Amino acid sequence: MFSENMYELGTKKSTIRTIFEYGRKRAAEVGENNIYDYSLGNPNVPAPNFIKQAIVDILNTEDPCAVHGYTIAPGLPIVREKLAKSVNHRFNTKFSADNFFITGGAAGAITIVFKALSEKNDEFIAFAPFFPEYKCFVESTGAKLVIVPAQPKDFQINFAEFEKSLSANTKAVIVNSPNNPSGTVYSEETIKKLTRILAKKSKEYGHPIFLISDEPYREIVYNGVNVPYLTHYYKDTIICYSYSKSFSLAGERIGYIIIPDEVTVSRKIYGAVAGAARVLTHVNAPSLFQRVIARCCDMPSDISAYEENGRLLYDGLLDAGFKCVKPQGAFYLFPESLEADDYAFCKKAQEFDLLLVPGTDFGCAGHFRASYCIKKETIKKSLPIFKKLADSYKCKG
Ligand code: PLP
Repeated sequence: MFSENMYELGTKKSTIRTIFEYGRKRAAEVGENNIYDYSLGNPNVPAPNFIKQAIVDILNTEDPCAVHGYTIAPGLPIVREKLAKSVNHRFNTKFSADNFFITGGAAGAITIVFKALSEKNDEFIAFAPFFPEYKCFVESTGAKLVIVPAQPKDFQINFAEFEKSLSANTKAVIVNSPNNPSGTVYSEETIKKLTRILAKKSKEYGHPIFLISDEPYREIVYNGVNVPYLTHYYKDTIICYSYSKSFSLAGERIGYIIIPDEVTVSRKIYGAVAGAARVLTHVNAPSLFQRVIARCCDMPSDISAYEENGRLLYDGLLDAGFKCVKPQGAFYLFPESLEADDYAFCKKAQEFDLLLVPGTDFGCAGHFRASYCIKKETIKKSLPIFKKLADSYKCKG
């Protein structure tokens, strides 16, 4: 009568959602200020003022029928030209408007790319810890998501496990750096090693293994850490970018795909992207926000609040006795849970009104995610509570 699969997906809440909704209920009981909700990755920094000015200016000066009307599916040519110019300037690339397909954020971009590439028996590889939505995005195309276990000492790539995961059915590998949930940025050394293996295996299997770079956190990095631009390292790279985090526009749904000319059968893949977008009812990315990003794409992201929050929480958790790989970007910490069962640990934390997400949900047990895109005051107030939580484990011996 209907798809059980879709019913499952639509009614079974993610752990993150369940924790967040519990938090809302609990806040009504104990007061907003007494709940420490580290569950969601929703930017808490308002969209920059230049976004507001661009919106007002567009609404005041441009033809409303065009501003609110359909655009062509890949996005307005003039907008794609602007994006190409901006990316070329920043990353020393040579893209043109024809390499860009504007999407509804990174989720839109990666779903379209998975669908565009997927054929019978295909496998896509992701590295734990990974963004949990990859699984349903990949499986909805009929392909399989293969997870490479994490390398918890630094959350770079576990290459021994990666080599075991590759097969003649591997269509693509997806990387997400800066990473949700670990905050890790893949080093140039990691990228070089990864792309060397991909090139070797592509040759061996007689078909390209594509590299999909899911990079909504590209701008959110600390201490000047370098985030390698992957098209410089591997020709079969497809970029998926989003303004959700860098400009705090998560609700507006705007981002893009880049399919460089160097990609094998690049124009065919671009066509398949257009086809996948069509069946996924993309129609076009939001018309007003295409125009907004065309005006604002050269502007910087303000990451100062995240940087401060990250430092505060990281130092505080270390003081309390937690172990954690130091994040280099994004706005998440991914410390070790204080008992092996991360679900039990997060349940225990809930008793202290600390809302944390179990690492198992990201394919990495024995850890938890804390999203620090929340008020600094909440973090400050929560640090003694983290300490109490840690002490409760010491008491247990
Ligand atoms: N990829 C990763 C790794 C994310 O963390 C998110 C959102 O949290 C997305 C993709 C989707 O972002 P967008 O809002 O751009 O669709």
